[in-house]
Amino acid sequence: MNSLSSSFDLALGKIPRKPETFAVAAVDLLLRTALTQRVSDIHLVPQADRTLQMYWRIDGVLTPIARFDELAANVIARLKVLADLLTYRSDIPQEGRIRTGSDESEMRVSTFPTIHGEKAVVRLFVASGQFRFVEDLGFQAPIDLQLRQILGQTAGVLIIAGPAGAGKTTTLYAGLRTILRDTDHLRSICTLEDPVEALIPGAAQSQVKPGTEFTYQRGLASLMRQDPNVIMVGEIRDAETAAIVFQASLTGQLVLTSFHAGTAAASLSRLGDMGIEPYVIRSGLQSILAQRLLRRCCPCQQHSNDSAASDCPNCHGSGYYGRLVLAELLPTDSPELAQAILTRQSAQVLEQCAIDGGMQPLWDAATQAVTDGLTTQLECHRVLGVARQAQ
Ligand SMILES: [Zn+2]
Repeated sequence: MNSLSSSFDLALGKIPRKPETFAVAAVDLLLRTALTQRVSDIHLVPQADRTLQMYWRIDGVLTPIARFDELAANVIARLKVLADLLTYRSDIPQEGRIRTGSDESEMRVSTFPTIHGEKAVVRLFVASGQFRFVEDLGFQAPIDLQLRQILGQTAGVLIIAGPAGAGKTTTLYAGLRTILRDTDHLRSICTLEDPVEALIPGAAQSQVKPGTEFTYQRGLASLMRQDPNVIMVGEIRDAETAAIVFQASLTGQLVLTSFHAGTAAASLSRLGDMGIEPYVIRSGLQSILAQRLLRRCCPCQQHSNDSAASDCPNCHGSGYYGRLVLAELLPTDSPELAQAILTRQSAQVLEQCAIDGGMQPLWDAATQAVTDGLTTQLECHRVLGVARQAQ
């Protein structure tokens, strides 16, 4: 049991075990504590013995925190009340929001029926606070500079790539705030998102609804008549959206979007697979930034011995505290890369051309971060998988 879990257990143990009031106090305690511990998701998973196991995701990693016993069902029921869900339905997935009465944080609850009972996940969206602008994100210096140059452009597509949980949305929002600030709010910014995760004063944000008439494709086609300078499209999920994104970029809009792909070169080759013509990619693309979040070594690790770590109030013995962003950015001015795109080369060839053109690949950036003592080799493997094959 880690020290975070034992201190939560201690607080939980002080709540009187009365069926009518326990869940209210327990849910209040768990939400309040989670908000102070940099928790991004609370998972409540029903077990075969009718208990409820709670995990918290901290810095991207799930950690077991507590187990609720015979009053477990009341805990889920209380969350459903807070999120305005149908408490009498436990046989369908439901989604809702908990109003916190503050702009600084938002909580979204989703429930899901499992064979052992209802599972619930609470996502915590804490205001971007420290990550407001591009320079606050902590990218490597050359990438920070190039990124801000790209955001000053008036046309083209900037794609932020990475798997889920890589911080793509935070980068997109920081990009929009940076553009607004640097242009004194004199550029018309529209967004299409699913869902809107943070409010950007000065941008016209819209939430698309897949399965209705307001999809990414429809929204984007109509937005072109709204005279935007900058469009943010939450995510390229299909070939049709990809096609309209590039069409928009060619008609004088800067488009920021995200894409689920591992590396910058893999994104390029996937766009080709989606049927985007090489010359359209070549002329429409500003750049692709592929990013990852790695856990940062806790300061207690510098004078490392096990007892120091286990007593550490920051990392609760995990050895990590906070996260580090690493990225690779396709060079924007490499004739070799341009030629490789036009001749539909493989992801491997595209990557080599990008590296020859000056891109520091993610694995090299990660190796450098380990050398600098910012993170560990183990963490690099957890986040990036196996090392890139020597080419
Ligand atoms: Zn520590």
